[in-house]
Amino acid sequence: MIIETKFDVGDKVYILNKTFKYDKTTCTVCSGNKTIETTNGLTLECPECHGNGYKQISKPIYAAWNEQAIIKHLTYQTWGYNNNQVQYDIDITDLIKYEHELFKTKQEAQLECDKFNKEQVTC
Ligand SMILES: [Zn+2]
Repeated sequence: MIIETKFDVGDKVYILNKTFKYDKTTCTVCSGNKTIETTNGLTLECPECHGNGYKQISKPIYAAWNEQAIIKHLTYQTWGYNNNQVQYDIDITDLIKYEHELFKTKQEAQLECDKFNKEQVTC
């Protein structure tokens, strides 16, 4: 069995990093009043926002790390019938990274980040 991976131990890579920006939006059910009134006159905590008056939304923001990383270790996993993935341990973070998050150049990483940020997709 021959397993091909995008990168090998010792390769230098740039990382696609995902963070989240949090915003609040006024609850559309209670209009920010935190409560609703029932048809029989009861005032209840808004079930949509749980009495906050707003909902918190998160938006992923992608950016290439400035620092180049070195792959320390990789793990190939397979399960089921034809499912597999490669996990990479790198030297500058304890986070496990996957092939779609690693690039040979910072420019390649940033192009992928720009694509995700423009399309508002999550990887
Ligand atoms: Zn509400």
